[in-house]
Amino acid sequence: MAGSQYRSGVPDNWFVDPVHLGVPGVRRDVDVVEDNPLSWQSDALCAQTDPEAFFPEKGGSTRDAKRICTSCDVRDACLEYALQNDERFGIWGGLSERERRKLKRRAS
Ligand code: SF4
Repeated sequence: MAGSQYRSGVPDNWFVDPVHLGVPGVRRDVDVVEDNPLSWQSDALCAQTDPEAFFPEKGGSTRDAKRICTSCDVRDACLEYALQNDERFGIWGGLSERERRKLKRRAS
């Protein structure tokens, strides 16, 4: 995914190149997938959609992104990754930045 074609709010490293992870169900290099903390991204629904929905401008709607997250098989892994890595921007695991902060506060 080339970052330059998207708005600057979408990080260039948002997603690992799926070629490195393998096609779901046809993964050959299991060690590479298991060692990669972002391997869940190969099953991420948002990788098939418009990334701008997941990184809206301040005050922009998060509804479309959150709706996609509700059907995503890797939602739990995505949220856990975002919480562990203190992802500050965008929708991860169906939660906004503010919602993730709230969740972290409640858990501590
Ligand atoms: S839960 Fe949402 S943000 Fe996370 S991988 Fe799935 S679609 Fe993307």
